[in-house]
Amino acid sequence: MPEKKLIAGNWKMNGSLEANDALVRALVAGMRDARCDVAVCVPAPYLAQVQMLRHGAKLDLGAQDVSQHAQGAYTGEVSAAMLREFGVRFCIVGHSERRQYHGETDGLVAEKAKTALAHGITPIVCVGETLAEREAGKTEEVVKRQLAAVIHVNGHCISEIVVAYEPVWAIGTGKTASPEQAQQVHALLRKQLAAATAQAERVHILYGGSMNAANAASLLAQPDIDGGLIGGASLKAPDFLQIIAAAS
Ligand code: PEP
Repeated sequence: MPEKKLIAGNWKMNGSLEANDALVRALVAGMRDARCDVAVCVPAPYLAQVQMLRHGAKLDLGAQDVSQHAQGAYTGEVSAAMLREFGVRFCIVGHSERRQYHGETDGLVAEKAKTALAHGITPIVCVGETLAEREAGKTEEVVKRQLAAVIHVNGHCISEIVVAYEPVWAIGTGKTASPEQAQQVHALLRKQLAAATAQAERVHILYGGSMNAANAASLLAQPDIDGGLIGGASLKAPDFLQIIAAAS
């Protein structure tokens, strides 16, 4: 497993100039002793604000999506080069909300991951099954297919990605995968990475899905859980700081 865990917050479409200011200041002050890596993936309009607020702190900046195109007539899109100008280090790609509400396919997610990597941005590639898929016994098939698409496109760069296992039924629902359920899938993903790269042990595989201050320690204690992608709980400084402490 990687030397340090990675805790990444996904603010989704939440925040305001005022709320972000208070949240980031509290995080920067509270995470001085953190022994894990920490990032916040913020809505694009707030990148400049958070970039300024985190100045000099160990808090990395992330985005929540990126265009697969370099530039041009793509109204509403944000390019990887633009994200880089704001100091973005991570970018979520293939979050289940984008797959579900914006029709993102495995192929598109792979293109986005490739574009991010080409601009020095580490993609946080989300994979995960729906409840129906889990109940139909298809969890392994689904997550392997989703990860294979990215590995296939990125070839030699796979050791530079972060993978986030996010069971769709656990996102924003308060239902968390048990540590054993999560570990089982993480071990599968690690094996799949190992078949493709000698660097598989270096790749962070994060768990996401209703991770919170109460359940973080038991999830993070699993051998193949290298951190968390946290939605709701990343919006409250005390909760996010407790998760950071559990990973330190
Ligand atoms: C997410 O959106 O990536 C997520 C894990 O959300 P939550 O923690 O709220 O379930």
